[in-house]
Amino acid sequence: MPNRFCAICGKSIDKKAPHFGLCMGCYLKEHPLFVLPERYSFKICVECGSYSKHEGWVVPKEDDILTITQDIILKSLLKTYVSKQNLGFKFNVKEESYEYSSRHLLKGFILEVTGYDQDNPQFKAKQLIKINLENSVCKNCSNLLGGMYYLAIIQMRVIDESQFDFLAEVIEDMHKFVEKAFFRNPKHYISKIEDQKNGVDLYLSSNEIMNKIISYLRGRYHFQLKRTKRLVGRDHQRGKNLYRLKSLIKFLPFEKNDVILIDNKKYIIESIYKNRIHIRAEDGSKLIKEFSYFFTEKITIIDKYEGKD
Ligand SMILES: [Zn+2]
Ligand SMILES: [Zn+2]
Repeated sequence: MPNRFCAICGKSIDKKAPHFGLCMGCYLKEHPLFVLPERYSFKICVECGSYSKHEGWVVPKEDDILTITQDIILKSLLKTYVSKQNLGFKFNVKEESYEYSSRHLLKGFILEVTGYDQDNPQFKAKQLIKINLENSVCKNCSNLLGGMYYLAIIQMRVIDESQFDFLAEVIEDMHKFVEKAFFRNPKHYISKIEDQKNGVDLYLSSNEIMNKIISYLRGRYHFQLKRTKRLVGRDHQRGKNLYRLKSLIKFLPFEKNDVILIDNKKYIIESIYKNRIHIRAEDGSKLIKEFSYFFTEKITIIDKYEGKD
């Protein structure tokens, strides 16, 4: 096969080149996969991470700055590239580009966007876009908080109403612990407890009280824990980033020795470890499952164990 050369840069090209006369680099310059504006701004709620472009606030899937930015860019600037041209995108925040406002809140950064053709992944291109955050407080948070102060949230959830009595006990228990451990402490306190559909949200004044509550509960109850954090600003004096921390606690719907039904098969909860549960079927066979299994699979509790172990 005769050697061919790119009509623009003169580089020799092979038969994998996307166009008979151009190399990949020059082809993508001439026919960009996608085009982004230089900068993009949107409103973000400092308290909960909800975002807004024009009207209304959207709660993000995950409360971290990359997910939030990704969500809004995919739904706005990149929407037609995804739906009409079947492009896929990857995002990366350039941490060295963080900018802070005079109130020390995160106000901007550079986002790196990589787009590729899903049918033909060698067609890919990278673009940088400057993201500007307009920090504000969403309607929901301003109603809820009314000037209240908090730094961290614990979300406690149960599967359904059948566990509400149990949850009430947990909350009472936790209150007693907090009273003892942080009695009239001006730094560490519970600011507010807010009812939610399947549980409550605890608004807490410090990360320390959040961690203490979690480790206290860990010693007494079985639950799945998921922590998230969102960068909100920077403490320049101490040279530390400031995060809003959230911990989601999902209580298991059963205890040791309860009998449950999965796919019409009976199992006894034999032992509960830190992340895994051993269950035994009637025929004696044993299964080891992670906590998450019991929140995705449909299970029914058919016999509560009433004795003590
Ligand atoms: Zn070229
Ligand atoms: Zn909010």
